[in-house]
Amino acid sequence: MTHSNLCILPWAGIELTTRGKWTLCCRMSEEQAFGALPEKAQELFESSPYLKKIRQDFLEGKIPTECQGCFEEEKRGGQSYRQEMNQYFSKQFEVLLNQPQIRFLDVRFSNRCNFACRTCRPVASTGWAQDALMMGLPTGSSFTEALSKASKHEEETLEFLQSQTLPLEKIQIMGGEPFLIPAVYSFIERLIEQKKQNTALIFNTNMSTLICEGKDIVKLLSPFSQIRLIVSIDGLGKVNEYIRHGSKWDDLLANFLRLKKELPQAELILYPTVSLLNILSLSELLAYFLGRQLIDEKNVLLNILERPQYYSLANMPPLMKNVVKEDFQKLGKKHLLLQKQLQRVIHFFEAATFEEEHLQQFFQATKFLDQLRQESFEELCPKFRLFCP
Ligand code: SF4
Repeated sequence: MTHSNLCILPWAGIELTTRGKWTLCCRMSEEQAFGALPEKAQELFESSPYLKKIRQDFLEGKIPTECQGCFEEEKRGGQSYRQEMNQYFSKQFEVLLNQPQIRFLDVRFSNRCNFACRTCRPVASTGWAQDALMMGLPTGSSFTEALSKASKHEEETLEFLQSQTLPLEKIQIMGGEPFLIPAVYSFIERLIEQKKQNTALIFNTNMSTLICEGKDIVKLLSPFSQIRLIVSIDGLGKVNEYIRHGSKWDDLLANFLRLKKELPQAELILYPTVSLLNILSLSELLAYFLGRQLIDEKNVLLNILERPQYYSLANMPPLMKNVVKEDFQKLGKKHLLLQKQLQRVIHFFEAATFEEEHLQQFFQATKFLDQLRQESFEELCPKFRLFCP
């Protein structure tokens, strides 16, 4: 059987969202959940008609509607989550197809986060609660309310996971900010107690802290041999502090350097979300990390922003496209392993038709938040306006 159009995840993995919903993977929204805590993952995995249908579609060579995103990503020349997972489970493909088993868990203990990144939203960050309230967003609540919901959910998730005996070999922990969540530390301690240090662990972190309630994540992770830390950094210094509201560049860099030194087995991934907010300074960020050998070229992962739409590169004015193309081509000549990814970004904005109305929405949204936060995109990136009609 050829597996080129198949995704192994429906046979091998499951995701628990910040609100306790079971979905198939992090590329899906909570609206596509097929269960919720306290329903047991294993039972749902075996009996959910939703999952059965997705598996059936794949086996019949069809692309399930909910998986279109991965295939579109591949068409754009990027590496999809599907390909990444297929590669990871390549040696177990046949076994899993014959006998589905949850080997991979993607878990978000809660949305507790100390940042309110411009490209994020309240469902993924408690840091957004206050601004969302001021903006009249339906998900707005006071910060205290948001935090208390987060704590409750963290406890429930921890308790639930500790009562499970899934044959997990890979666990991805996202947030919120996982290194701020006490339950994440307890969960890792439990893995150590159970002598599961061979479990592959993946974290997505804003790198703001490595310590929580006196526990040190670096020390806790040292017995694990497979660790991947996906570090969200969108810009150098002030740019990162503007986009990732709440971040402090010096702290971030100090934590990054400490991890590199004290957790050498960890694979550090630089993961900038590429949007209109940082497109003109992205090469500066990459040159900084690559030039100082803080990161390998192969460990840069450019995440092209999809939402909110007004920050999308699809809204780039033509003049800016030319400048960025030139900039990226120069960078690509120096860093050959990055070329494909830079090309993918170029391809993304080249394929979009510029609509001035959408660019105006970008300015409106940016100005609105600037006023709320007493910040200024114009001051941060004065050259942006030069390329606008
Ligand atoms: S194809 Fe993509 S969206 Fe679908 S299950 Fe696999 S990784 Fe998730």
